[in-house]
Amino acid sequence: MIEIQNIDKYFGALHVLKNISLTVPRGQRLVILGPSGSGKSTLLRTINGLETIQSGSVTVDGINVHEHKSNLYKVRQLTGMVFQQFNLFNHKSVIDNITMAPIHVQKRNRKEAEAEAIVLLERVGLPEKAHAYPSQLSGGQQQRVAIARALALRPKVMLFDEPTSALDPEMIQEVLDVMKDIAHEAMTMLVVTHEIGFAKEAADRVIFMDNGLIIEDAATSEFFSNPKSERTRQFLSKIL
Ligand code: ADP
Ligand code: MG
Repeated sequence: MIEIQNIDKYFGALHVLKNISLTVPRGQRLVILGPSGSGKSTLLRTINGLETIQSGSVTVDGINVHEHKSNLYKVRQLTGMVFQQFNLFNHKSVIDNITMAPIHVQKRNRKEAEAEAIVLLERVGLPEKAHAYPSQLSGGQQQRVAIARALALRPKVMLFDEPTSALDPEMIQEVLDVMKDIAHEAMTMLVVTHEIGFAKEAADRVIFMDNGLIIEDAATSEFFSNPKSERTRQFLSKIL
């Protein structure tokens, strides 16, 4: 589903992704761990073209992300992204937030898009909030709306960038539960998170990034029971 080949990313003189390659098969649930500044967000953002790259290539479902503007448009339809800050449109109701891209970008019928939005709101546990505004929702509820909005594109890939990091502790679980539900449907998912419980329960595979490199890449149980690199062990000892 995702093929990243030898990509380099610089911000000015700063070399942020260093010849990274990564293949993610269809349906895989991948968790990305690593310290702050290691390049996790940048890597995710190269996958849907939110960041350019200086060399190498990224393909999503056979589409070369950085080749043409039109490819970028296609890839954005295939990939849902959920950010740390929920990024909802505050002047729009929940249902408008969810149906905006399906109606205006994907040119889907409004009635159908709204019916689907209601189903998605039920799925994330917020059927009664369709006509609420983001400011009337808790952080956990806003993030669940953001997930519903991403799913409304009917994406083939979901990218999550620290989706629970901005939440009060009591709201983290409700968001992780929705993510686990998505994981159970064998959606291709890349999740940057420090939630090790989620990784152990929902991920097939875990990678550890440090300083622009993938230092460790293993099946989940192997990753946690027998990390190979000293750097990974140090990191895990700090967060476990
Ligand atoms: P992580 O998500 O692992 O914390 P990031 O991918 O956000 O790391 O950042 C990797 C490095 O790139 C950091 O040194 C960060 O300061 C730098 N960086 C990220 N975005 C930008 C940007 N838009 N301009 C300049 N430097 C950036
Ligand atoms: Mg980040």
